[in-house]
Amino acid sequence: MRVANLARRLVLVDKNVAVDVETASHGEFSSDPQGIYERWDPFVAWAADVDLSEGTSFNPADLGSPVPAPRQVLAIGLNYRDHAAESGFAAPVTEPPVFTKFPSCITGPYGQIDLPAGGHTDWEVELVAVIGRRAHEVRESDALSHVAGYAVGQDISERLLQMAATPPQFSLGKSLPGFGPIGPWLVTLDELADPNDLELGCAIDGEQVQLGRTRDLIFSVPALVSRLSQTIPLLPGDVIFTGTPSGVGLGRNPQRFLREGEELVSHIEGIGELRHRFVAPASV
Ligand code: ZN
Repeated sequence: MRVANLARRLVLVDKNVAVDVETASHGEFSSDPQGIYERWDPFVAWAADVDLSEGTSFNPADLGSPVPAPRQVLAIGLNYRDHAAESGFAAPVTEPPVFTKFPSCITGPYGQIDLPAGGHTDWEVELVAVIGRRAHEVRESDALSHVAGYAVGQDISERLLQMAATPPQFSLGKSLPGFGPIGPWLVTLDELADPNDLELGCAIDGEQVQLGRTRDLIFSVPALVSRLSQTIPLLPGDVIFTGTPSGVGLGRNPQRFLREGEELVSHIEGIGELRHRFVAPASV
C-alpha cells in the first residue's frame, strides 16, 4: 500500500491514480495525513479492501510529505561505513550518534528549496522509517511491527551553520525551512521485495553523487527502533532518518555544495523519487 498526502488530504495511491480516504471510508478515517498514524492498524485493515481501480488521476506536484507534522524527528549520523570514513570518523560500533531535525523543516517530494546565502548546503539521501504503532522498550525482533512504512528522505544540511558551534550543532544546521523533504509517499514494507536491501542514491542535474544500498546500514531499522525506544517512546507518526551513504559534498575533494538553480533528484528502489530545485530566497 502507498499512502500519500495529496493537497493536504490523505489518499491511497496506485501508479497514477489516488483514492481519497475520507470519502472512500465515508468519514471513518479523517482526511488528515498526519493523524492516520494514530489509527494505523484499523486503517491498514480497512485499506486492504479498497478498490484502487476507482481512483482518479492526480498531479504529482500536489503531493506533500506523507508525514507532514511528526512530533519527533530522529536522525542518525554515520550509519554507513563509507560515509563515516569520508567524514573523517571511525564507524560507530556500540552506539549510533543521534540528533533531531526540527519538524518545521519537513517538506514534500517536489518543489523548490531556498538556498541560504553564503552557506555550504549539502545533500544526504536517506531511508526514512515512519512509526505506525507506539514503541517503548521494544525488542529488535518486534521492532518492524511498530513501523508503518518507508519513504525517501533528504537530510539537507548547511555545513557552515552545522559546524559554527563547538561541539557542532547538527540539529540547527539540518533544520532550515525545506531541509527535510520526505516522500513521494509512504510505502508499507509488504510492497518491497526485500525491505532490508534497497538501492538509494541521488543526482545533481543528472550527475550521480550518491549510490548505496540499505543492507550496508551499520544499525538496521529494527536495531534503531529498538535502541531508540529504550530511551524515548516512539510515537505514531514519528520519523527516523536512518543515515546516508557516501558521496556527500563535504566528503569530496574538492568539496562541493549545492548551487542556485541546481536540481537534486533522490531515489530509493521500490519507493520512488524526490525532485527539488535550489533557489535564491525571494528578497523581501
Ligand atoms: Zn543524515
